[in-house]
Amino acid sequence: MSEVHVSPHPLVQHKLTLLRRTITEPKKFRELVRELTQFLLYEATLDLPLQDRPIETPLAPLVGKQIGVQIGLVPILRAGLGMVDPIIDLIPTAHVWHLGLYRDHATLEPVTYYNKLPPEVEVDLCLVLDPMLATGGSAIAAVDILKRWGAQQIKFLGLIAAPEGVAALSSAHPDVPIYLAALDDHLNHKGYIVPGLGDAGDRQFGTG
Ligand code: URA
Repeated sequence: MSEVHVSPHPLVQHKLTLLRRTITEPKKFRELVRELTQFLLYEATLDLPLQDRPIETPLAPLVGKQIGVQIGLVPILRAGLGMVDPIIDLIPTAHVWHLGLYRDHATLEPVTYYNKLPPEVEVDLCLVLDPMLATGGSAIAAVDILKRWGAQQIKFLGLIAAPEGVAALSSAHPDVPIYLAALDDHLNHKGYIVPGLGDAGDRQFGTG
């Protein structure tokens, strides 16, 4: 089974409640996605390796620290887009590769329509970004693609998951830890997370 980290942080729980509300309009929704993503990133990067970095302060030389790995962000289009900027604000050296996966509404299976991963693996750690881990189909397909490409270490960052999605992702890829703000009750017959927040893409971009 994958490690599953559901943030217990009071600010995360407070902001997630604002995010879920029907009356939260897209501008506020995007702002909350941004803030929640930064909290989850903090938790998902607690184990990043550090290297020594000698520097000069105005008073003395010092051996400081720098992040010792190259990070790749893999947002699943389109809802994962809102999670990219808040991460590259904090990790400006991160590379970003978009993966276009949509759920076929009849089968609920993921279909890949956009994949521009470079031929060579250029990163040590890939963060797959998708606010909603529903059936797990898109996340599993994204991790399959990254593993076939040669990615060595992969983590999944989402905001809300259904138990069905966590079970599916962790049984397909038990080596991929999952970072969340909430684990909700169930999936409905249309594949939406309940209580959830509706369609995370529509709510960010004012569509639907
Ligand atoms: N995708 C969403 O945007 N919301 C859900 O509840 C499930 C999948």
